Amino acid sequence: MEEFINDGDIIELLDTSKNPSPSRVREIIARAGELKGLGPEEAAVLLQVEDPELNDEICSAAHDIKNAIYGNRLVMFAPLYTSNYCSNNCLYCGFRRDNRTLKRVALTNEEIAEEVRILESQGHKRLLMLCGEQKGRKAFDSFIEAIEIAYGTMTDRGGEIRRINVEVAPQDIEGFKRLKQANIGTYVLFQETYHHDTYRIMHPAGQKADYLWRLTAMDRAMEAGIDDVGIGALFGLYDYKFEVLGLLSHAMHLDQKFGVGPHTISVPRLEPALNAPAAIKPPNPVSDADFKRIVAVIRMAVPYTGMILSTRERPEVRREVFKVGISQISAGSRTNPGGYHSGNEGMDDAAQFNLGDTRTLDEVILDISQEGHIPSFCTACYRLGRTGKDFMDLAKPGLIRKFCRTNAIMTYQEYLSDYASEETKRVGEELVRRLIGETKKDGTRKLLEERLARIKNGERDLYI
Ligand code: SAM
Ligand code: SF4
Repeated sequence: MEEFINDGDIIELLDTSKNPSPSRVREIIARAGELKGLGPEEAAVLLQVEDPELNDEICSAAHDIKNAIYGNRLVMFAPLYTSNYCSNNCLYCGFRRDNRTLKRVALTNEEIAEEVRILESQGHKRLLMLCGEQKGRKAFDSFIEAIEIAYGTMTDRGGEIRRINVEVAPQDIEGFKRLKQANIGTYVLFQETYHHDTYRIMHPAGQKADYLWRLTAMDRAMEAGIDDVGIGALFGLYDYKFEVLGLLSHAMHLDQKFGVGPHTISVPRLEPALNAPAAIKPPNPVSDADFKRIVAVIRMAVPYTGMILSTRERPEVRREVFKVGISQISAGSRTNPGGYHSGNEGMDDAAQFNLGDTRTLDEVILDISQEGHIPSFCTACYRLGRTGKDFMDLAKPGLIRKFCRTNAIMTYQEYLSDYASEETKRVGEELVRRLIGETKKDGTRKLLEERLARIKNGERDLYI
């Protein structure tokens, strides 16, 4: 498999794009507004901007682009860790094998079902299932079984998991075929750092030490028939400008080779973790202002991709970056296997890293509703086969927006009827009324009103 990240090329691009003129920056901002994306040279220029006024212009353009493609909905999900055993030794992670003080936990099938029931009783419909990386077939078999259990676990009031994305170690093509058969949504995997030397230092042992095996995982996933893949870089390990260009090169590679770019791009930032030297003192810390620009530039360069933000970030940072391009968020998360069952217990001795946002799902929903976003539990595209190229054909010209908005409002109403606290319900119902009023097309408004009435009468899982 060929290597498509060339460190020297990226470094040269960053060197030649330094100190851009304001007119060049504005030219690129205007081009991004055409929603066709940006090349690495153009993205490099935006990353080099220091002037606060120009930076504001970048953020405002990114905000408009996100709204043009996806509207103002934010899709909600929860991570579900099944095991924290790991044979790798990533220097930034609490699950690393040299962390002898971590309490090792692998959930039983009943414990997994219990975690799912708790998440369903909070209102979650989408999961991201993950685990540490363990050698051998047995651990992978258990993970596949865990997916089946999660899909099969139902609770009253229509509680069910409708889409499971997964984040597990890179597989060979056979392994990816098994994930596909297990009906996963997106296969997510972070390269962590695209910079070869830093990668070598950060991953001293185990299968993960192999940069190329990880880099080419998405190629194998797509060859195995998984057509929604999600990439990401762990910000704080190396120069963030390099990582953004690495992510864009990866996106372009997939688009050119398969005609489908990444379904999502994640932007995790290093958080403190138990006995993980690189997390306790990040080698290249990223400031909140730079973090916002990272999100904005990716949004402008790859407008069609979903962008994911996790509870690693504090509420105030989350509010800022939602505005400039994030379209999917986790809420009410735990990073210790069994964490939903045990509440906060175990967070200290079994968790992967510390969280910046520890609010409940309902508190997050209330907050984002008040900020004018539409919380969404939509899983329509995946269930109607709008995945891979079919999804991109709708997302690239901005046509997915009309589905997203209607489905977001319907699933939001389900949440308000079934799970919301009194205050969230009051704020939410007001927002839904306003959204109906703002729906310009008569046909869409009538459809929305009719479906919302059906939901209020007890029907569930309506989507278009
Ligand atoms: N073990 C698999 C792997 O490494 O890809 C599955 C997922 S791992 C549990 C999820 C991700 O957490 C990693 O890819 C890494 O980017 C992130 N992570 C690890 N340590 C972290 C830390 N201290 N702060 C923030 N994110 C971290
Ligand atoms: Fe294991 Fe993944 Fe943590 Fe690395 S990041 S130590 S592979 S769980």
